Amino acid sequence: MIDRLIGFPTVSRDSNLGLIEYARDELARLGVRADLIYDSARNKANLFATLSSEPDRVKTGGLVISGHTDTVPVDGQDWASEPFVADHREGRIHGRGSADMKGFIAIALAAVPKFLAAQENVALHLSLTYDEETTFFGVRDLLADLAERSIRPAGCIIGEPTDMRAIVAHKGKRDLCCRVRGREGHSSLTPDGVNAIEFAAKLVAFIRQTADRLSRDEPRDARFAVPYTTLQTGLIKGGIAVNVIPRDCEFTFEMRNLPATSTDELTNAIVQYAERELLPEMRSVASDAAIAFDCGMDLPAFGIAPEHPLVRWAQQVARTAHLGTGAVGFATEASMFSKAGIPTLVIGPGSIDQAHKPDEYISYEQVAACEAFFQRLVAEPMPS
Ligand SMILES: [Zn+2]
Repeated sequence: MIDRLIGFPTVSRDSNLGLIEYARDELARLGVRADLIYDSARNKANLFATLSSEPDRVKTGGLVISGHTDTVPVDGQDWASEPFVADHREGRIHGRGSADMKGFIAIALAAVPKFLAAQENVALHLSLTYDEETTFFGVRDLLADLAERSIRPAGCIIGEPTDMRAIVAHKGKRDLCCRVRGREGHSSLTPDGVNAIEFAAKLVAFIRQTADRLSRDEPRDARFAVPYTTLQTGLIKGGIAVNVIPRDCEFTFEMRNLPATSTDELTNAIVQYAERELLPEMRSVASDAAIAFDCGMDLPAFGIAPEHPLVRWAQQVARTAHLGTGAVGFATEASMFSKAGIPTLVIGPGSIDQAHKPDEYISYEQVAACEAFFQRLVAEPMPS
């Protein structure tokens, strides 16, 4: 099953329908009805299925097993084998998405007959999403659809690669694009123009000062490798020639916040600075000068108490309680599920160290650990 799923080239920018329709047909063959939730272009879809012969009886409760179907691209990467053809060597399955996270999805799909056989004891849902690696729009639409249909699961497991260790927190991430509009002119007449690059630079410097303040003063969360909120500017473009006062400058920055820190407050402070400190000066020269902010990805931070029954139970079933719980730097769909009121944790096979890289792989050992996890999940169901 892992080999088959790797064979669908579901890079985020492309359609995932081949994989989704395959999963739908597999489920149908087992008598399970799956609902597909399409994007507006009908080029991508989420899949949600209640693993029961009477799904309407499990509208409240049950555990969601969830994974994203999209992968990052392979452009410019040097692979020893074809990225979208599974290659078994040295006890590992190589291929784009093997660890992140088609391995998990495939193991879950292959376990569906087992899950169905145990449906009297354990209520399960399967959720497959799109665009996790880019915008998180897939999971957003899936959760809206569940709310609309009054489906209220009792918990969720996101099978991102954690070596089957329970992950109970990750940082949030918000991307913002800022467009500064000044006034162009001949560079010998700078007082008559508004240099968009220079005002953008002031904002970039303010963002950096904000980052410096947080790195100095913010209460530490020692679970994270970088134990405080970070901000950085990652892209900038502006101007057309050295002797032209630049009219436009655009830059993109991000914040990666601790669960305790609000990205709204940080955003407000930056917008206020632009409006109070920069715009009046710009408009004294050009009344149509402007600074606009657009939000791209906006993912809340995620946290669940390590003592939560769902966490305790998952660690027990995975036999990885001895590893304790952890926090990770990468963002996942866990924050969206928990924001929707569904207790969630991240636990899955493979390692994030292998994700997004050339020759990405999942080891047979991790596959076996996840299979055993699903086996025991049925035998030792989540306390309700
Ligand atoms: Zn992932």
